[in-house]
Amino acid sequence: MTDQLQRFLFEDTPVRGEFVRLAATWQAVLEHHHYPPPLRTLLGELMAAGALLAATLKFDGLLSLQLQGNGPVKLIVVECTREHTMRATAKWQGGIADGGLRDLLGEGRFVVNLMPGSGQPGYQGVVGLEGDTVAAALEHYMATSEQIPTRLWLASDEQHAAGLLLQKLPEQAGRDGDAWPRAGHLAATVTAQELLQLDARRLLHRLFHEEDLRVFDAKPVSFRCSCTRERVIDMLRMLGRDEVRAVIAERGEVEVHCEFCNRRYAFDAVDSGQIFTSFGVGTTRGTRH
Ligand SMILES: [Zn+2]
Repeated sequence: MTDQLQRFLFEDTPVRGEFVRLAATWQAVLEHHHYPPPLRTLLGELMAAGALLAATLKFDGLLSLQLQGNGPVKLIVVECTREHTMRATAKWQGGIADGGLRDLLGEGRFVVNLMPGSGQPGYQGVVGLEGDTVAAALEHYMATSEQIPTRLWLASDEQHAAGLLLQKLPEQAGRDGDAWPRAGHLAATVTAQELLQLDARRLLHRLFHEEDLRVFDAKPVSFRCSCTRERVIDMLRMLGRDEVRAVIAERGEVEVHCEFCNRRYAFDAVDSGQIFTSFGVGTTRGTRH
């Protein structure tokens, strides 16, 4: 079975890890947009990274990872919930030539948002883009913002997005001091092909068979878009009755398109009447005049 997050740790050491390989989740993202191949590679790597980070950070609601740039690619965004449902999309302009992270995004920043589900204030971490790979940008973020030594190996192709993460927890007395560099050396022998083709059991055996590894139950990961008609209605209410009516007068309807799942939400004059009447806007405006 694919699309699983596999947590593991090196017994009696401060080193823990996660492995993820996405197939159906990744295919669901690709189904909704046709991404130029170099961008698709970065998007897949950021998907794998999102699943790995969501498994290691403490948060209740939503983790959002954004690569923002001023190059031909403007934005790559991946969202992951506590329940390991994911969605992702990207914005770009014109043709995308082959290249690394910096060729595609130019100057930019890496933004991490942790949003609690219950309307409490969230947390945002922002760092400049460093390195020429998604893994390097994330390692830089984890070192600067989270101060947790973290190493990542990421890969994606048309079929799979996969990644391996190692993290060093705070040292405890009597623990194996060589474990962190040793685990890193072993993990660094992994190839993109292995990340993309092997399941967790075979990959962990291939890399760490001489280590005392504790492997936890795998957790399923899946695609889910959180857009709903109700959320779109909330957005239209914020836009305001006059704005919405003006668009309907011109085009016959307001159409809102979800960038993540391509779902289309349309509202005509009758819908608009219901949206704003039920909100009590008509009454409020009436008393003002
Ligand atoms: Zn959607």
